[in-house]
Amino acid sequence: MNIRIDGGTVVGWSGTSHEIIPNGSVLIDGDTIKAVGTDNSQSVDKVINAAGKIVCPGFINLHVHSQLNIGDYLLSDVTKKDYLAANWFVFGAPLKGKVETPPAPVVAMGRKYALYSALRNGATTVLDPGGGPGALDDYVAIVGQTGGRVFFSPPFRSHDIFTDAQGRHFYEERADKGRPGLKVAVDFIKKFHGAHNGRLQGILNPAQAETCEPSLLKESVAAAKELDVPIHIHAGGNLREFLQILNTYRKPVAEYLADTGILGPRTTLGHMAVTGGHSRVDYPRGDELKILAESGATVGHCPHKCAKMAFAMESFDQYLEAGVRMGLGTDTYPLDIVSEMRYASLISRLVDKNASGARPANIFNAATIGGADALGRKDLGRLAAGAKADVVILNLRTTRYGPVRDPINALVEYGSGADVETVIVGGEVVVQNGRSTRLNDDELFAQAEAGANRAWDNWAGRDWNGRTVEQINPPAFPTRKN
Ligand SMILES: [Zn+2]
Repeated sequence: MNIRIDGGTVVGWSGTSHEIIPNGSVLIDGDTIKAVGTDNSQSVDKVINAAGKIVCPGFINLHVHSQLNIGDYLLSDVTKKDYLAANWFVFGAPLKGKVETPPAPVVAMGRKYALYSALRNGATTVLDPGGGPGALDDYVAIVGQTGGRVFFSPPFRSHDIFTDAQGRHFYEERADKGRPGLKVAVDFIKKFHGAHNGRLQGILNPAQAETCEPSLLKESVAAAKELDVPIHIHAGGNLREFLQILNTYRKPVAEYLADTGILGPRTTLGHMAVTGGHSRVDYPRGDELKILAESGATVGHCPHKCAKMAFAMESFDQYLEAGVRMGLGTDTYPLDIVSEMRYASLISRLVDKNASGARPANIFNAATIGGADALGRKDLGRLAAGAKADVVILNLRTTRYGPVRDPINALVEYGSGADVETVIVGGEVVVQNGRSTRLNDDELFAQAEAGANRAWDNWAGRDWNGRTVEQINPPAFPTRKN
């Protein structure tokens, strides 16, 4: 099928950079972009009128866990009181023996919800570092149903983290999860890489810097090379990890990772905010940014998640100026890559006390070509002839906003995923008027709500101190008793 998108403000690609094409036209032939310019004379099967709207390359969200926001909900209040238990330790390090594997239908629903929510907010490509466990055939089917591009294989680690009855963390070696987990991931990639017309792509996910022993990281690098796929690892995401690596290997996380050989142009580091020199770390920065820059690894920056826990990368601009490749991800809900751009820009300015910092162009690049480069895909993140036909159409001309002068400055300063009207992946319209053309949005939301409430209602059973969700994260106002 041929589609032409007419009349919008098109964010085209000059060959070296994004460029604005007023009253532009994007011609799509099958799953590929055939032409980007102002010629709208070709006859096509379908014309999409984008007059007054912004026609963007599909965004790349480098951090979408395929699960609901059940744990995210508990982040903010808890972490104010107990910084060592911040981030995923809040919910990812349960009392040992109290964790029950959720049933496959619940896992499937969480996966579908997350992958769709990220897509609906404008991310045509997501990197999934892992969500619900098991049922890998189901996962592949879900990628088929939702319609977006997904880089995934099941994460693995040599050590699990648990909480004891006093709320203290401990790492426990899991011989059954390290190498065997890597093998499951390799088998998954061998079987499913390229499924759904290439929309499902393999990536290796050694889970976290401090939960994978160095030999497992080395084996992951070798496996990724053999499979010809990229790597993602969580690193520099919290103080607990920093202290664990410093104590175990006597060096900060970037140096440690460099020594394992895992840093390289095809590696994405989820977060990498807590480094030496960070204001929460009593350790000098040293050469960490230089190491990252020289390695060619990409930082998958997730500013909203950090802000929820009252800390920040220090700073987006400082990393960029050091030559570090930058991409953007959401990690926490909402999986809204458009709003994430604003967080990235504002928070970097706050950190540097520089009102003219973190320019929208640099942030927009991170959310498009930065992510695409991390995944080794020159055919994503840009609107150019020969690129994949992944397009997002947004409407900023509503009374929610004021008049717009420059489309990209406005998008980064004001925009949100709510402004996304149309999402096209591989030449197929998968979101129209903000709703899926493939799934029932209302039904999916109702299922997610019921699933989340079930988990929250039973939270006390897995918390180390037996606390309910309301005890951990108090309601904003009391509820009237009828
Ligand atoms: Zn994560």
